[in-house]
Amino acid sequence: MAFRFDDSTSATRSAMSARRGGPHALPFHMQFVGRRLYINAKVRFLVVAGIVIGALGGKYILGIQDLDVRRLLALAGLLGLFNTGIFLVARRHNRIERRDQVCRFLMGLTHLTISVDFLFLSVAIWLVGGAKSPFQVFYLVHVILAALLLSPRAACAHALFGYALLSGLVLGQWWGIIPIHFPVGAVNSTQPLHGGYVLTVLLVYGMLMALSLYLLTGITSLLRKGEEQLRTANAKLERVSGIQRDFLHIAVHDLKSPVAAAKMLLHSVELGADPPLTDEQVRRIARVQLRLDEVTAFLRDFEVLAALDSADVEKHREEIDVAALLRSVVEQNQDLAQVHHHALRLEVADGLPRVFGTGRLIREAVANLVTNAIKYTPDNGIIVARARREKDVMRIEVEDNGIGIAPEDEQRLFQEFVRVRRKDGPAGKVSGSGLGLSIVRRIVEANGGEVGVVSEVGEGSTFFILLPCGSAPEATAQDRDIA
Ligand code: ADP
Repeated sequence: MAFRFDDSTSATRSAMSARRGGPHALPFHMQFVGRRLYINAKVRFLVVAGIVIGALGGKYILGIQDLDVRRLLALAGLLGLFNTGIFLVARRHNRIERRDQVCRFLMGLTHLTISVDFLFLSVAIWLVGGAKSPFQVFYLVHVILAALLLSPRAACAHALFGYALLSGLVLGQWWGIIPIHFPVGAVNSTQPLHGGYVLTVLLVYGMLMALSLYLLTGITSLLRKGEEQLRTANAKLERVSGIQRDFLHIAVHDLKSPVAAAKMLLHSVELGADPPLTDEQVRRIARVQLRLDEVTAFLRDFEVLAALDSADVEKHREEIDVAALLRSVVEQNQDLAQVHHHALRLEVADGLPRVFGTGRLIREAVANLVTNAIKYTPDNGIIVARARREKDVMRIEVEDNGIGIAPEDEQRLFQEFVRVRRKDGPAGKVSGSGLGLSIVRRIVEANGGEVGVVSEVGEGSTFFILLPCGSAPEATAQDRDIA
């Protein structure tokens, strides 16, 4: 069976890698700019609510004198209006964004919102005590936000802007240029500003802002550098694994033809030998043919592995008619079963739902279980392939009355290159690579399912595959993110 996924060329893969955030894509943190803008807009609505509650609560519950509630409410209204606009835009971009121009536009909006936030904050602080207001500490929050969201240079510019606003407010009030609002309760007293206090405020906030900026931009720069290194390493790994995949593909392809040719030649020697071959010669040719069959099976395993590693497995998902799939696998293996005088049966419930997955690979997984059942069941056995629905899960089973598996081996079998040799059973004589069940597991897991076995030594085994029922999913938000 050929598992060639046509577009596994390096060119397509590198195009795909770029699409999925490969070497030339935007930095990862930039791709989240829309999502962050959206979250910030939601938080800003909370701030608006906070101003309204604070103004009303301050005046009517705490009894703060001279609190300019009207202006504070007007400020909250304006901020709410501005934020509604930002929210509506950000909501449309609440996803991972890989388009360069859109990211730049959203980044521009982020700059705008941080600057406008500083302005609104300054007005709010002016209304609740200005130079004496305990709310000055919110300047720091905005500096931290800028350091986390923006480049170090931009964060620095915003911090300077914020500090200029704070200094303007404090100095302006000290020099009597800006009107004073000292609502007692929000501030300690209505005493005029003391020069030493003004300088202390400016010094302390200057230091705090500079320190926060220095520490946070340092950490975020390190994180972004790490992200960049990871992206480069990832791109390298993808390239190497692409080369390996291509090599495996070519090697398997180039080996299959000579092996098939050797088998045909041996067959023609067997048929056309004159004088006829001796018994010993026939026996030896049969042994060579058996070995060649093993090589063919091994190559097929590698082909399936290469197909599983291919990034295009996702693309080959389709709706699968499990009943038809099982029927065709059973029909295809009837001859082999008859060689061993096994009864190979099919039991499929009516009206089975479809499952959504990589049909060719799932077929390979089921075929693997059926051939194993044939191999590991002494002659005259009974093998049943069945499928039924269990709630939202499709249960596919292959049951045999063969040699069975010891409990300690049951999980091991699904690992690569594990073969259990039993002196009393046919497994000792049966050829195989030990790859089959690990491939079955990988196929099933790649399709969102599970695989397992229930068995008793000497009684038989039932291998089962559980796959989620359902048809092709609608394009989800996550899919749109990935696309
Ligand atoms: P292979 O058949 O090539 O050895 P698999 O991965 O398909 O590799 O199987 C691993 C081991 O699991 C086999 O060597 C065999 O011992 C055991 N096994 C698989 N299927 C059965 C079965 N139906 N009954 C008993 N043993 C089995």
